[in-house]
Amino acid sequence: MPYVFTPPAQPFVPVKGTDERFPVHRIYCVGRNYAAHAREMGKDPDREPPFFFTKPADAIVANGASISYPSRTADLHHEIELVVALGQGGKDIPVSEALQRVYGYAVGNDLTRRDLQAESKDKGRPWDTAKGFDRSAPITAITPARECGHLSKGRIWLAVNGTLRQQGDLRELIWSVPEIIAELSTLFELSAGDLIFTGTPAGVGPVKPRDRIEGGVDGLETLVTTIL
Ligand code: MN
Repeated sequence: MPYVFTPPAQPFVPVKGTDERFPVHRIYCVGRNYAAHAREMGKDPDREPPFFFTKPADAIVANGASISYPSRTADLHHEIELVVALGQGGKDIPVSEALQRVYGYAVGNDLTRRDLQAESKDKGRPWDTAKGFDRSAPITAITPARECGHLSKGRIWLAVNGTLRQQGDLRELIWSVPEIIAELSTLFELSAGDLIFTGTPAGVGPVKPRDRIEGGVDGLETLVTTIL
């Protein structure tokens, strides 16, 4: 049976060093997964564990692309994050079996309309307009785990116009990658093609038109995004 119109294109992320594409199913994100970032957002990481929210799959932006400053915000923030790309899914995945589901890793920027997020928090409303807006998920090519191994330590950083803004180490993750996958799989049935943004270290802040944002994680491609 024909579709009533041409289906939307399948969002994808390139796989580093190949001509293959990783098809994106869903984008999950972890909130407050570094203690220092939880504190800068006014929260006590010892009393409130990390949590999840989502972005639409078509929010991804290719590495090196420019994006327009988004509508309805005057406080667009950067959040550099390690991204986990799943090659297999499942539900109720044990921590000990979680890394077997990982296809590879990438670097992502969880772009955030911080002013809309603050309003959502004040009013007890959802975060979709703050987090899940169009082009809110710049991401590098995925490095397969067979090449980079599984990442549990290493520097994570972000600079704006050459000035370092965020810096941390993957060792500081409150929930490790296998713990994130295990926890998330008790809430959703995970699938091949899912991306998980694992949370940002301290130092989040605003970007403005004409800013060049660069960020990375040891062992992965550097993410470059320019705001128009
Ligand atoms: Mn984030």
